[in-house]
Amino acid sequence: MKLKWKPKKLTLVIIPDANQSVVRFRVPHLFAYIAAACFSLLLLITLITYALHAQTTKKANALQAKLSGASQQWNATLTSKDKAIEQLQNEVIQLSQQAEQMKSQVEEMKKFENDLKSIAGLDANVTGKAVASATAANENKSTEEQTPPVATSGIGGSPNPASQEAIMQLGEQTSASFTALNSEVKELQTSLTETKQKVADKQHQLAITPTLYPTNVRIVTSTFGYRTDPFTHSPSFHSGIDFGARENDAVYATADGKVVSTGKDIYHGNNIVIEHSKGLRTWYMHLNKILVNNGDNVTKGSTIGLVGSTGRSTAPHLHYEVLKNGESIDPKPYLKANRKDD
Ligand SMILES: [Zn+2]
Repeated sequence: MKLKWKPKKLTLVIIPDANQSVVRFRVPHLFAYIAAACFSLLLLITLITYALHAQTTKKANALQAKLSGASQQWNATLTSKDKAIEQLQNEVIQLSQQAEQMKSQVEEMKKFENDLKSIAGLDANVTGKAVASATAANENKSTEEQTPPVATSGIGGSPNPASQEAIMQLGEQTSASFTALNSEVKELQTSLTETKQKVADKQHQLAITPTLYPTNVRIVTSTFGYRTDPFTHSPSFHSGIDFGARENDAVYATADGKVVSTGKDIYHGNNIVIEHSKGLRTWYMHLNKILVNNGDNVTKGSTIGLVGSTGRSTAPHLHYEVLKNGESIDPKPYLKANRKDD
């Protein structure tokens, strides 16, 4: 069998227009194969390019979506942090306000302590500042009383946002204020403890000092000192004070103490002696009735007997004497207070 290459020709006809003559090209078959191969190659390249492009676009979209998600998350974090910072800043402001309130309260407590000292007669050297502030406070109080404040809860003003630096500074100031307050409160605690002790000492001192009137009646019918004796009409020394009380009026212990003598004799009648401290004794005479026993502990203001006219007496009265180390002294400088429940 013989193979014989016979180049066949293909005729390409191009018709430009109906009125123009037809153009003919005669090309070999091989050209057609090459053209078909070129076309196929081109198509393949196009498809591969398209596939690559599609894959790249898909990756880009995925990346963009991821980026967008991250951005949203970042924005959410930023918003959350902004809110947290704002909250912290507001808390700093609140703390600074609390520090101011605490300062006022500490000042108030200092004033109370000074007032307490004044009432107890403890502080002879109360500072002018304290007195001035107390006076100012009283003045303010009286002004308030004259013109009662109108209750209002309104707050206003133009918006003026605080800068971060200002808040930081406020935070530092507040911290310093709290440190200072802490030390002031400690000082106040020490001072109040001392004052409490001083007041207690003063109270004890007052309790053991015969400052009370021995009867409700405060009419003095005979004072301490020289006088004309009511019986002999001769000059004599009156060693106590006579109170013109009525018969059976209560007689009170003028200070805390211990009954060291109860008895009756022709001069003093029914009489009681109470021993206090610091060498002080009080003596109650001419009683109608004695209501305590020898050795009893009595408190200031307790009823120890009833007014009478026993012994060397012209009419019902109480002869009251104060003795210092066994010697009669004028009771008058001691008498300052009424009975507790008066
Ligand atoms: Zn007398």
